[in-house]
Amino acid sequence: MNSFEKKPPMKQRPTKRAALTGALAASLMMLPGFVGGSPALAQKAERDSLSYGELLQKIENREVQRVDLDETEQIAKVYLKGQQPDAQPQQVRLLEQNPELIAALKANDVQFDEVSSANGRAAVGLLINLMWILPLVALMLLFIRRSANASSQAMNFGKSRARFQMEAKTGIKFDDVAGIEEAKEELQEVVTFLKQPEKFTAVGARIPKGVLLVGPPGTGKTLLAKAIAGEAGVPFFSISGSEFVEMFVGVGASRVRDLFKKAKENAPCLIFIDEIDAVGRQRGAGIGGGNDEREQTLNQLLTEMDGFEGNTGIIIIAATNRPDVLDAALLRPGRFDRQVIVDAPDRKGRLEILKVHARNKKIDASVSLEVVARRTPGFTGADLANLLNEAAILTARRRKDAITQIEIDDAIDRLTIGLMLNPLLDSNKKRLIAYHEVGHALLATLLPHADPLNKVTIIPRSGGVGGFSQQILNEEMIDSGLYTRAWIKDNITMTLGGKAAEAEVFGESEVTGGASNDLKIVTNLARKMVTMYGMSDLGLVALETQNSDVFLGRDWVTRNEYSEEMATKIDRKVREIAISCYQEARRIIRENRALVDRLVELIVEQETIEGEQFRQIVAEYTKLPEKQQLAVLSQS
Ligand code: ADP
Ligand code: MG
Ligand code: ZN
Repeated sequence: MNSFEKKPPMKQRPTKRAALTGALAASLMMLPGFVGGSPALAQKAERDSLSYGELLQKIENREVQRVDLDETEQIAKVYLKGQQPDAQPQQVRLLEQNPELIAALKANDVQFDEVSSANGRAAVGLLINLMWILPLVALMLLFIRRSANASSQAMNFGKSRARFQMEAKTGIKFDDVAGIEEAKEELQEVVTFLKQPEKFTAVGARIPKGVLLVGPPGTGKTLLAKAIAGEAGVPFFSISGSEFVEMFVGVGASRVRDLFKKAKENAPCLIFIDEIDAVGRQRGAGIGGGNDEREQTLNQLLTEMDGFEGNTGIIIIAATNRPDVLDAALLRPGRFDRQVIVDAPDRKGRLEILKVHARNKKIDASVSLEVVARRTPGFTGADLANLLNEAAILTARRRKDAITQIEIDDAIDRLTIGLMLNPLLDSNKKRLIAYHEVGHALLATLLPHADPLNKVTIIPRSGGVGGFSQQILNEEMIDSGLYTRAWIKDNITMTLGGKAAEAEVFGESEVTGGASNDLKIVTNLARKMVTMYGMSDLGLVALETQNSDVFLGRDWVTRNEYSEEMATKIDRKVREIAISCYQEARRIIRENRALVDRLVELIVEQETIEGEQFRQIVAEYTKLPEKQQLAVLSQS
């Protein structure tokens, strides 16, 4: 652009704007093909101040200083000598060809230039048009796409959107799976099937087609399946049972067909079906006579499994945590006839899993994974992986170089109890919580069979937790399930300690709802005492069998194996136990009131009391039971 173009005629602006805004309004309703069409036409009429002849005359007379020729619009902008520097140029309409003008300009040494203001303006106009058109076009395209998609979906759904994933190499080895040694051992064989099927077929052995992995979520079933594929070096196809079951009828069945077709092309390979219970439930069951779509899918799955001969090199591994609801046809020989239990790890298993996940993390040498494993009963592999990750995040946030025990402990609390929130300001509420938690902690310390205190804190946590008192878990008892009567009884008493302290200090009417969870635990424990361990005068009958399949969701099936009359007796017994434990708790709090008050003062001030400090203070007032003295020894 030349210098002139940079200061356009001021008066033109408003007209153009007006035209534009009008057009913009119009373009809201229709495609604005005409916006900014050619405003120059209008300008020409009003600004023609010189005729062509006059211009030639003025050039001859050397009155003209400069001329800008605009060929496209066929106008010339004429700057006269002696005109105000900021004055408007005169406009002259040109002819088709203007040889004489050019000649005259040249002859008289007039500065002249060709500009294409109209082009520029047209370009601007075009741009503005485009700015409107583009989104509209895009919008239209979107609509067109949508409807096209919808129709194509309706035409060949299932086929086009195969939802299974394929991994040529999972990159996962048996080394990455820990703590479930038995399952690993059983599946080692599957690796050999995939790697060297000849070994088995040569002696006439039928290679199993399907293996069912049974276990609670997060125990490493998916991981294990991937590890098998990784060890055998075969592709890994995976699909989730819930993805089979879709809105459109027939999708599931066609997905199964697609999956097996692809798998056959890639044999030897491994097919992993997660959550198989979503599709493999007993047929014809359920409310309303079952689900046609699911049954079709299941039938297709069974057909496909029967369809390939024993040695096509495809092995199907399915995972579920509800083997009880699976259709019997799925479990027949030749289908998922092998079941491998993948259970939550024990302490040794947890240690192994922690070691696996500690590999790629910077962990301080002072950290004992042994201690971490001991502190995490009930954690699955996924929980442990998550725990170390949380600890690593905390470490990064605290700008430390390596994960220390503090971060791990905080991560455990965070996962088991909740996110730490800001401490409360000193208030009645804070004191109430302090008494409640000190009540628990003191009983945990004074009762001879209770597990020793790890810490007690009144820093609130997310999920409405005002504070907690935490014991050093007796993992032997938890892992073995061998609870003693004395242990259960002391635990009931300890759990009631919070409510007991509130009642002793503030009066029965002030007891808060904060104890409702405690009461649930108490009821549970007391019930177990009565019904499972024969620890009451109802006799030595196990009224409910210990159900090891609780995670399978079958807890309710075994309930009520006794009469109504017995149920009433049990309820009465449960209440009796709870009441006598509660009275015991209140007695201990009452008799140690001065100690309780001192501990509350301390915890209100410092928010948290570690087990060690707690025991030392308690020891100033009264003699610690034997177990607690041992705890002091083993801790230091
Ligand atoms: P599932 O399929 O049984 O629900 P996953 O295999 O998806 O559990 O496990 C989730 C994650 O937890 C894994 O990717 C892994 O990081 C970790 N994990 C679970 N179990 C183990 C285990 N036994 N050994 C090592 N890591 C495990
Ligand atoms: Mg899984
Ligand atoms: Zn409580």
